[in-house]
Amino acid sequence: MRAVLLGPPGAGKGTQAARLSVRLGVPAISTGDIFRVNVKGGTALGLTAREFMDAGHLVPDEVTNAMVRDRLAQDDAAEGFLLDGYPRNPEQAVELDSMLAELGSGLDVAIEITANFDVVTDRLLKRAQVEGRADDTEPVIRKRLDVYANSTAPLTAFYAGRGLLVQVDGLGGIDEVTDRLVAAVAA
Ligand code: AMP
Repeated sequence: MRAVLLGPPGAGKGTQAARLSVRLGVPAISTGDIFRVNVKGGTALGLTAREFMDAGHLVPDEVTNAMVRDRLAQDDAAEGFLLDGYPRNPEQAVELDSMLAELGSGLDVAIEITANFDVVTDRLLKRAQVEGRADDTEPVIRKRLDVYANSTAPLTAFYAGRGLLVQVDGLGGIDEVTDRLVAAVAA
């Protein structure tokens, strides 16, 4: 199973990606997590990514694409993966296609977790208090939702046009949403 997980920040992608990866038996690969590990470790990649992340902007495509290309070439991703947070714009989606073509494969499904902006804003503000993520302040949350609406939301039509899109309602309990996702992927 080669899948991408789409949806606005705060829709529950990270939580659901971890659960779905267990159910599907493929690694969950989160570009946001990889960036955060690098920021914490003070690597060159982390230093580059940090200023974009802290402002709620996308890290430049050339940096992000190279990182994903390396990650997908690793052994554990050979039989499948669940990408969480990538692609984030149509240019990355095209790049993903060409990475997979080079590896002799292609995408099976694009799963979108839908959630309304008021709900996700609320969730992100609550998460800010619990996790203390640097990019969970109100102005940065608004910026990230803006970036989502302008750059990422067009991916819905992009994947729908290719017959790969399934949409799952992200409202409800965590288990309930996981069950919906599993059912949607199985169908
Ligand atoms: P996330 O954990 O997915 O919400 O990502 C946190 C931040 O990491 C984003 O706001 C971006 O700054 C950066 N990021 C994660 N994935 C990508 C991507 N595919 N392209 C560009 N930037 C990304």
